Amino acid sequence: MRCPFCGSDDTQVKDSRPAEDGAAIRRRRHCPGCGSRFTTFERVQLRDLTVIKSTGARVPFDRDKLARSIQVALRKRPVEPERIDRLVNGIQRRLESMGETDIPSKVIGEMVMDALANLDPVAYVRFASVYRNFREAKDFEDFVGKLSGDGD
Ligand SMILES: [Zn+2]
Repeated sequence: MRCPFCGSDDTQVKDSRPAEDGAAIRRRRHCPGCGSRFTTFERVQLRDLTVIKSTGARVPFDRDKLARSIQVALRKRPVEPERIDRLVNGIQRRLESMGETDIPSKVIGEMVMDALANLDPVAYVRFASVYRNFREAKDFEDFVGKLSGDGD
């Protein structure tokens, strides 16, 4: 971080702490060059989030695309649109507060599955079967077995 007073690139972080409920990091900095002290806030901007696919391809995070995939999983399920919206917002906030700008698609997939597991079991299986690459039928059986063993 460049010193705003003398332009030196050699500034030091004296203290870092979460701010704004963890959505930002507040850093107190010191410039040894001119002795100035200043404070910066670091925030993840959603538009800067990059999704790293399993193939290694990098694509910009697309909230609408995420919402659509969740809507497809919930098609004809008795879930109000407001709840879907809240679910997407919740995932978006979690991604924003991770502090990383490069996010593996797997991480997003796991978040969606966690959220759907609590919301609607049918949608959960639909989403999981698309999202996870089941190489063998057995993987899927294990997965469904785990699912039905849950909470009964
Ligand atoms: Zn300075």
